[in-house]
Amino acid sequence: MIDLRSDTLTRPTEAMRQAMARAEVGDDVYGEDPTVLALEDRVAELFGHEAALFMPTGSMANVLAVRALVQPGQEVLCEASAHIARAELGAHAAYSGVTMRTWYHPRGQVDLPMVRRMYAPDLGPFFVRTAAVSVECTHNFAGGAVLPIEDLRDLRELATAAGAAVHVDGARIWNAHVATGTPLAEYGAVADVMAVCLSKGLGAPVGSLTIGSADVIAEARVWRKRMGGGMRQVGILAAAGLHALDHHVERLAEDHAHARLLAEACGVDPASVDTNIVVVPRPDAPDFVARAAEAGVRVSMVGPTTVRLVTHLDVTRADAEKAAAALGAL
Ligand SMILES: *Cc1c(COP(=O)(O)O)cnc(C)c1O
Repeated sequence: MIDLRSDTLTRPTEAMRQAMARAEVGDDVYGEDPTVLALEDRVAELFGHEAALFMPTGSMANVLAVRALVQPGQEVLCEASAHIARAELGAHAAYSGVTMRTWYHPRGQVDLPMVRRMYAPDLGPFFVRTAAVSVECTHNFAGGAVLPIEDLRDLRELATAAGAAVHVDGARIWNAHVATGTPLAEYGAVADVMAVCLSKGLGAPVGSLTIGSADVIAEARVWRKRMGGGMRQVGILAAAGLHALDHHVERLAEDHAHARLLAEACGVDPASVDTNIVVVPRPDAPDFVARAAEAGVRVSMVGPTTVRLVTHLDVTRADAEKAAAALGAL
């Protein structure tokens, strides 16, 4: 079975498992796990921020990032199919008392005139105040779309002038970096706070980080523990992340090439595929998913008429060719 449901399905490679087994560890709640500290320092530096905080999931990284900048009763503006709005089960409302207003873009892009129109300053006891604008790069439900760095710079400028923060959900920022050549630090420079995942295309079994100023991360550290996310000898997991940063970033280009191959086979313009996700419109999505499985390819449905294919570390060139032939035949 070739599994294209998600890039979270990757299993740690043998070399990654060895790096994990060798990891030096300590109690991370005491701030004494050297491998976690090394990962946090390295990731903060990659994005040009002061600090970073390791945690179990990207959802938690987003929740802690947003709550560091947005008070209960304030709002975040984001695109309508953003992961924070659709796929975190209302965590930002349930835990942080944060509301969201959304703009829609079929490719998950920033709509600057719309953001300008939607932005709500502090007008006293009348309107919800916009405390942050959130963008997702690459954009998951928009098919792994990259947000151009120029748009992100314009957004940061607008938000900063208005007194709002920018949150970047960079679960797959590594894919955007490899696809465009934009240095990670340039993505870091457009964000007040970011979340990044090691457990997607990078192939680590667990792990995400919130990245920001020393103050933001100190606050996030308190909330991580409060929410039950204080972990102990997790250098074992951080070692997987360090290994992934050394060995699994540049290879994402292969996943992107495989995604274009699959797109072509499914009648989707490969030029519309920026990274490792292909969204295929199918009026018969449930049936298509079932028939693909019979043909040896697992794909997922992200809507009644939408099928999603995701390439990753565990999909070889041969797998991609085989899957393309099978899906093409359907
Ligand atoms: C996967 C993902 C996350 C975080 O997901 P977890 O499953 O909680 O690790 C956040 N944002 C985007 C865009 C994602 O695709």
